[in-house]
Amino acid sequence: MAKRTVRDVDWAGKRALVRVDFNVPFEHGTARVSDDVRIRAALPTIQYLREQGAAVVLATHLGRPGGKPQPELELGPVAERLAELLRTPVTYVHDAVGDVALGHAERLGPSDVLLLENVRFYAGEETNSDAFALALAHLADIYVNDAFGTAHRAHASTEGVAHHLPAVAGLLMDRELAFLGNVLEAPERPLAAVFGGAKVSDKVRVLERLLGRADAILVGGGMAATFLKAQGHDVGSSLLEPELVNFCGDIMRRAADSGVDLRFPQDVVVAEKAEVGVPSAVVTPSEVGKSQMILDIGPSTAEAFAGVLAAMKTIVWNGPMGVCEVPPFERGTKAIAKAIAGSNATSVIGGGSTAEAVATFGLAGSMTHVSTGGGASLEFLEGRELPGVAALDNE
Ligand code: ADP
Ligand code: MG
Repeated sequence: MAKRTVRDVDWAGKRALVRVDFNVPFEHGTARVSDDVRIRAALPTIQYLREQGAAVVLATHLGRPGGKPQPELELGPVAERLAELLRTPVTYVHDAVGDVALGHAERLGPSDVLLLENVRFYAGEETNSDAFALALAHLADIYVNDAFGTAHRAHASTEGVAHHLPAVAGLLMDRELAFLGNVLEAPERPLAAVFGGAKVSDKVRVLERLLGRADAILVGGGMAATFLKAQGHDVGSSLLEPELVNFCGDIMRRAADSGVDLRFPQDVVVAEKAEVGVPSAVVTPSEVGKSQMILDIGPSTAEAFAGVLAAMKTIVWNGPMGVCEVPPFERGTKAIAKAIAGSNATSVIGGGSTAEAVATFGLAGSMTHVSTGGGASLEFLEGRELPGVAALDNE
């Protein structure tokens, strides 16, 4: 169901409560924001609202304070960075609800910006208490959800509040729903899905869902070991989910029946452990030693996968091809990132560690869409309705 967006509202003289995802990392032991990608991602919505003459009240969570105030998770540094990026003053209030916050909200003029305190300082946020949702709703005329990364959580600021105000999607939320929705609903074919990361169990439901829609499915990363095991290979001390070996065999039979080009590594990089500087080797899946772990796809696999990807019109990628945080086991992931970046396909990158890897390689700008939500994009691709999206007004 299509959702109303900020573009469908007349904002003149209105006050918006905008749920953003400013859950940013800090330089260790400091109050300096180390990566402001999430703040930048919300700027189009904030600027749009300001241009339309709305007063903007921003709400976000930061970290996991567990319903109690925690000084190191206050939003002062976030307010500072936001003000720099917007080139406009940002008022920051040490409350998210109540008289003081309401007073600040009521004093806002058109295009003014107020940042509320961390909503997870309140017990009612994560329990989705109706009283807390109502208190948030008092602050504004219209609710905007631009926090795709938290949309899979039914919290007061992501779901509850939407029942007390007109509720619309922000521009980032709208973009996420459009690109991820397109993968499930009307992708330009051929469509390839690339899976990697740690566990089969995290991705089985998406894999099953795409089995009927994708032309090619490429599997690498830690999760490939369970499939290789199902093919009869001894995978040494690789990451293995024994309880899913049968399921992986079943997936392979179903893929063969439905004519999907399902691929696994034909060569792998193995080592005794995932540490910088350990001796590593490229072997076939049948040559993995007892004490060895599969830590990356090998160069022949990377080349074969890149060949498949070159012919695609749509590519969705979820999960790195190896332990990409530890060189040299980032090579497979980098090769796939380059192949996708260089292709003519519409490329949709799931959030989480895949998005981080793509950013590290400097290739984020070459992808069509890099999701800001790891867990949320996975749940969306599983076909589940995200509570924060479901609660928004239908078009
Ligand atoms: P995403 O966040 O993209 O959904 P996951 O959270 O499932 O992906 O997995 C990411 C993690 O998977 C990374 O930290 C990476 O080190 C790990 N990983 C990838 N390949 C392997 C492997 N062969 N063995 C162990 N861990 C792996
Ligand atoms: Mg992850």
